[in-house]
Amino acid sequence: MRIAILALQGAFMEHEQMLERLGVSSFEIRQRKDIEQAFDGLVIPGGESTVQGKLLRELDLFESLKMKIADGLPVFGTCAGLLLLAKKVKNDDRIHFAAMDITAIRNAYGRQLGSFYTESEFKGIGKIPMTFIRAPYIEAVYGNAKILATVNGKIVAAREDNMLVTAFHPELNKDLSVHRYFIEMIEECRAIHL
Ligand code: GLN
Repeated sequence: MRIAILALQGAFMEHEQMLERLGVSSFEIRQRKDIEQAFDGLVIPGGESTVQGKLLRELDLFESLKMKIADGLPVFGTCAGLLLLAKKVKNDDRIHFAAMDITAIRNAYGRQLGSFYTESEFKGIGKIPMTFIRAPYIEAVYGNAKILATVNGKIVAAREDNMLVTAFHPELNKDLSVHRYFIEMIEECRAIHL
């Protein structure tokens, strides 16, 4: 198994380290030629969704990745990655991959409360650490999207078929369980496509 990590901006290195600890090989996507190789999953890291969206287009990565995701490529978006995958962002006109049936709110916790740490239940895993940094949350899921975690009544993780998103940053804590969940998801998606 080989996982591509979008490495244009943000916390991509931490994802590489998590995957390495799980014994999964990964490589960085920085330019067009990087997506010509085969890969089984894609991580879209936290950072700035506006910047990543702009660079994706400028570097001519956007359309190919959008198509791969629509074709069922397993993808894991954290924070800004969640915003890039959402079909709707309530307080932002810029829509990017528009792949997942969720409505997100950008910088949803406000400036002061935007960054915090908590622990909460993640469906199928149990209680896990969650670090939020100027985080969005999900206002609503619809279609096939399912809620995986909430914090204080706000949706902070969801899954729809081949797509997994978290408003928090699992790559910033030691706990590997969300990355392991993504690896299992890739294996499931592969089995379906066989
Ligand atoms: N606030 C950022 C955005 O709007 C997301 C923050 C993050 O990824 N940690 O893109």
